[in-house]
Amino acid sequence: MNLLTLILCSLIIAGTFLLWEFVAWLTHKYVMHGVLWRWHKSHHTVHGHALERNDLFALVFSLPCIGLFYYASQVVFNPYLLAVATGIFCYGLFYVVFHDILVHQRIRWRPEKRSKYLQRIIHAHYIHHSKHSREGCEAFGFLIASKKYEPKDFTYKQERQETQ
Ligand SMILES: [Zn+2]
Ligand SMILES: [Zn+2]
Ligand SMILES: [Zn+2]
Repeated sequence: MNLLTLILCSLIIAGTFLLWEFVAWLTHKYVMHGVLWRWHKSHHTVHGHALERNDLFALVFSLPCIGLFYYASQVVFNPYLLAVATGIFCYGLFYVVFHDILVHQRIRWRPEKRSKYLQRIIHAHYIHHSKHSREGCEAFGFLIASKKYEPKDFTYKQERQETQ
């Protein structure tokens, strides 16, 4: 692989990662709070279970990524397609760390230092969860949150149930 391919692949990975925020936003707003609310509802309900029906989304969304990795490495060898798959995979990793760990505390871990940016995206998702209904929710994004979600006083919610 030459340098140009490497540079192009890096750009594709970064571009796919950013584009996936838009895909996630669209899906969250129109599918999860739309036709598949039946699955997502479990994630807006206070409960003490370790798993949620909503976790099925993670399973479903990992399939195209796995398929693309397989296709781009085993069927045809295409570094650019592989870069797309890597970008999606990186978004998936970001999503697990940000959404499932930092916000929802499914694993109790938090960084000591939290930037203004981190406070803003975490707060925006708290706002999203302040409603327990299919309609009337706001802040559907994960990676990007508008300035208006910048909290004056940021406090972490301690218990997982507080974030549901
Ligand atoms: Zn939601
Ligand atoms: Zn959530
Ligand atoms: Zn809630």
